[in-house]
Amino acid sequence: MSHLPKLIFELSREGKIGCGLNEADVPAEPAVDAELRRGAIADFPQVSEVEIVRHYMALAKLNYSVDAGFYPLGSCTMKYNPKINERLAAAEELQAHPYAPHDLVQGNLEIMARLEEWLVELTGMAGFTLAPAAGAHGEFTGMLVVRRYLQEKGDPRRVVLIPDSAHGTNPASAHFAGYEVREIASSAKGTIGLAELRPHLTPDVAALMMTNPNTLGIFESDIMAVAEALHANGSLLYMDGANLNALLGIVRPGDLGVDVMHINLHKTFSTPHGGGGPGSGPVGVAANLLPYLPVPRVRKGGSGYEVVYADPRSIGRVKNFYGHFLVIVRALAYLMALGRENVGRVAEDAVLNANYVRSQLQGLLDLPYKAPTLHEVVFSDSGLPVKTLDIAKRLLDYGVHPFTIYFPLIVHGAMMIEPTESESKETLDDFIAVMKVILGEARENPELLRQAPTRTPVRRLDETQAARKPVLRWRKGELH
Ligand SMILES: *Cc1c(COP(=O)(O)O)cnc(C)c1O
Repeated sequence: MSHLPKLIFELSREGKIGCGLNEADVPAEPAVDAELRRGAIADFPQVSEVEIVRHYMALAKLNYSVDAGFYPLGSCTMKYNPKINERLAAAEELQAHPYAPHDLVQGNLEIMARLEEWLVELTGMAGFTLAPAAGAHGEFTGMLVVRRYLQEKGDPRRVVLIPDSAHGTNPASAHFAGYEVREIASSAKGTIGLAELRPHLTPDVAALMMTNPNTLGIFESDIMAVAEALHANGSLLYMDGANLNALLGIVRPGDLGVDVMHINLHKTFSTPHGGGGPGSGPVGVAANLLPYLPVPRVRKGGSGYEVVYADPRSIGRVKNFYGHFLVIVRALAYLMALGRENVGRVAEDAVLNANYVRSQLQGLLDLPYKAPTLHEVVFSDSGLPVKTLDIAKRLLDYGVHPFTIYFPLIVHGAMMIEPTESESKETLDDFIAVMKVILGEARENPELLRQAPTRTPVRRLDETQAARKPVLRWRKGELH
């Protein structure tokens, strides 16, 4: 059943060796006491140099990446990562010890200060912390800022409102920050307006967390009226701006009445982030919330950049040292390479690409929410003879990474497609052609899709078993 290449465990033969060490010219001195040492490691593979090289090559070739092909994973913004960013992030001059004296790392501090300036300019917020390590960590940090602000005002509140189209991390972050979460149903249009908000807007509402564009890929067009109603109620508006690529250089959340927001540097501003990191989720706030941002804060002083480590009103530290500095380097490099005059083209092309996919597939797939599409489009599997999962698995057979499936939850069998701005029309046409072939197969031979994938190293997995009893280590005879 498996087309996996032969791995070193199967090639192992007693006595094979892949390296040669010279005789030591100093007396042998055991580094670890005998009683602390393990005995011989059982089943440790013994292979030659060429076999171990091929082992790792074979594993590497099983990976899929943005550099290998189209990766339309909705809400994840798997855009191309310019290689110049990697060169800069690897530059020896930027690798500093986090305890290095500030006068020796002025350049690194300037990089952080300049990225903060860019983010302030692009969003219209008053200031940013670059400390949070990911989007969800940014949400948590932002909600702690909200909490501290309301506490200091002597008006602590208990409830955070979250639309049913929000990203799943939002309710988790609000709950972690000590709030009770109340869900608001979106309108038939797929957005939150005053009619949806009003019935929930009680005096104990601390904030509304709104993903914008929301996870249907739709701009929350009533956001200004929503912000006004929240403010009149003494509540704050949190905007999840993880996918700012849809708005970049065109709309500034600060101008819409947003009080707190986070951005995912590892989506909007490139940085490889498949496989879980490293990320960075800077949090921006309006002027009245600035004092509560986490420390450390980099700021320009009389004789260069300084770092403020303690501030009585700050929520304190949320991350060791300065956050993920090299992601910050990549984001600044990405913005500087684009230049101020071109930043808006990111959003224009991201929106154009998503709309091209929508226009080519909307006759073939059900489009439950018809409001204009921004950076991603969400179809449903209604009316199809197969399920979304079957289509996603069949895409693997054609060498395409599937889109996000079954999210957002308010769409039946959701297919959430985010092409990003870095794809050409030719690539999109290939994807659309593959989708048309698959939808044809679904009508003529649905069983083919239910069996898919058939051309991949591993066939369809039992996902329940994989989650409950993951097999993460090779053992003789366990892999079939
Ligand atoms: C990706 C994403 C998040 C979470 O970001 P992580 O870095 O994965 O924690 C939150 N909200 C939205 C809308 C996202 O797309």
